[in-house]
Order: sequence, then structure tokens, then C-alpha cells
Amino acid sequence: MGIVMVKCPETGRAIPTGMEADRSSFQCAPVFFSRVFCPICKTNHEWFAKDAWVRELGRRIRSHSRVAETVGPVSKTA
Ligand SMILES: [Zn+2]
Repeated sequence: MGIVMVKCPETGRAIPTGMEADRSSFQCAPVFFSRVFCPICKTNHEWFAKDAWVRELGRRIRSHSRVAETVGPVSKTA
């Protein structure tokens, strides 16, 4: 899980939207837009999902993918 971040259109700073999302599921989320209160501008900005990204909490990057043993197709051509 992570925090959905957007870029403030006025200052270019990254601001948290307060939304929590999973990075992979967020990327698959349908296009939507929302509003976020910007602590820098002290106003609301509208943002689109495509402009947002997920900042993962706790930088624990672990690969779940193990090197799979690929078993080739057994051809029975004789
Ligand atoms: Zn702003």
C-alpha cells in the first residue's frame, strides 16, 4: 500500500491526496478525477488519476518472482 500523490500545478511540489492505494491496482484503476486540498497553496486542486502516482510506504522492495523453471514443451514428433 502507498499514498496517492499528485503534483501541485502551481508549485510543482508533490502533495499527498490522503488516498491510499496499491500501486498495481491504482494503475489499473479507471480514469477519474478528484480534488485535493493543497497545503502549499491553501486551496483545492483538481487532479486526474493519470497525473497521480503512488508513493509506497516503507521502502521494502522485495521481489516475489522467483526464477521459474521453464519446462519446454515435450514434442512427440517421432
Ligand atoms: Zn498547490
